[in-house]
Amino acid sequence: MQNKQSRGYVWLVGAGPGDFGLITLKGLEAIAQAEVLVYDRLINSNLIDRAPADCEKIYVGKQAANHALPQPQINELLYQKAAAGKRVVRLKGGDPYVFGRGGEEGLYLAERGIPFEEVPGITSSIAGPAYAGIPVTHRECASSFHVFTGNFKDEERGLDFANLARLEGTLIFLMGFANLNYITQGLLAAGKPADTPAAVISQATTPRQRTAVGTLADIEERCAAAKLSSPAITVIGEVVNCRPQLNFFERQQGRGVLVLRDARQSEIFIRKLQARGLTPYCCPVIEIVDRWLTPEIWAAIEGLPKYSWLVFTSPNGVRCFMDNFYSGGGDWRAFGHLKFAVIGRATAQALRERAGFDADFVPQKQVSDALGQGLAERLTPADNVLLPRSAIADNRLLEILSAKCPVTDLKIYDTRFCTDKEEQLREQLAKANIRYVPFTSASTVDGFVQACGGPEAAASLLTENACQTVAIGPVTAGRMRQLGLEPDLQAAEHSLDGVIEVILQDLEGEKND
Ligand code: SAH
Repeated sequence: MQNKQSRGYVWLVGAGPGDFGLITLKGLEAIAQAEVLVYDRLINSNLIDRAPADCEKIYVGKQAANHALPQPQINELLYQKAAAGKRVVRLKGGDPYVFGRGGEEGLYLAERGIPFEEVPGITSSIAGPAYAGIPVTHRECASSFHVFTGNFKDEERGLDFANLARLEGTLIFLMGFANLNYITQGLLAAGKPADTPAAVISQATTPRQRTAVGTLADIEERCAAAKLSSPAITVIGEVVNCRPQLNFFERQQGRGVLVLRDARQSEIFIRKLQARGLTPYCCPVIEIVDRWLTPEIWAAIEGLPKYSWLVFTSPNGVRCFMDNFYSGGGDWRAFGHLKFAVIGRATAQALRERAGFDADFVPQKQVSDALGQGLAERLTPADNVLLPRSAIADNRLLEILSAKCPVTDLKIYDTRFCTDKEEQLREQLAKANIRYVPFTSASTVDGFVQACGGPEAAASLLTENACQTVAIGPVTAGRMRQLGLEPDLQAAEHSLDGVIEVILQDLEGEKND
């Protein structure tokens, strides 16, 4: 570029769609030697920082209705600076000649004899979809792509929808976010099928990228639910279906984990996730409601002397039983003769912290069958087991233990499903940086499915948002399968730590692919 430095010269440089790395080498070189940098909005600020310290930086960015500097004045500014002998870089988002008015600027300079060149950029119309996992062409479904502006100052000069609807290729709209309704309605009215896949990608290629996916019929609604805003790119066509497999970018940055458990119980999980660099998003779909000193609970507390084993299948059971015992005026010495069995480490820890007792039996595998079988080996017909647990627990453990000795199944807490969460779930998942949806109990599976409005809706919500499901263990995985949700991952250790471990392994594996 040496020879161009002695006199005024203009580079019309495409900055790419947003990601700093998506500028060309030639564009970056031009910026590095600029004396004047004239730039728009939506330009990655790191690029502006690449200009020399003494470079004059002029912002001329436009907002839809609010032109910071009208185009004729931008043209004149470029001309004046170059005519004064400056090396001028005109930095524009995406590619300067794709709806960028770069052509007008070039013509204005050419007419006035100012030497210039255009440095093409990566246009958001291709890179935005790509970063959302959508190839603009695909041998099987789109042999062309068509890029339109969706910004019409004069509706009469709007789009020729009859023509558009006949195209088999992918339809891409820039600047169309405010006119999404006009575009979708126009295409539908012209006979484009309502179930044609559609996606809107907002703030593409930036860390704030978010994508809504749907069909021509519902994409507008999906965008509203996800609260997407401009700048955004609309893509219409079968290629949108590639997204679940190709969505590399949001997936990479997606260290988001949806926490579905009871709000009061989520705290430990949240802290554990954060400690490992994952981002928790909370949407409780179940609520744990303690039972308080019911006649059965009273009877169990008063009858403690007759039991020989106290068995807990969750930290919740420990907490709720001990709270009842304490509030009911219980005396800790009543536990002196008892042995404790717990399902796993977290429950053992809760027993230690809440009551100061060490568990006498913890199965190696943290599942209720292992607890049942391991404990059954230790029981004699003379034993008597008290089993305080959820009112919705299944009967398997009870059956295994009852085969050996008397067992009291004490319903100590209820699990309620939060049915008013659909909107919140949709909104959070549409943020797209939620990558993992762990189910930490069979009841969170039920809660999630109910919140979504049924198994099919739950499954499609997860697929649409390219979420990976994680089962804490085989019982939870079994419940998921019953409801048509195939677990993508399953924890080796059936605990919250195990869930986090398998997520991290998954992220790690992807990096190495
Ligand atoms: N020359 C640019 C387009 C300029 S028109 C290019 O080639 O990309 C401005 C429109 O581009 C916006 O309204 C929006 O539709 C789209 N756009 C540009 N950058 C975008 C981004 N990072 N995310 C989403 N849309 C973007």
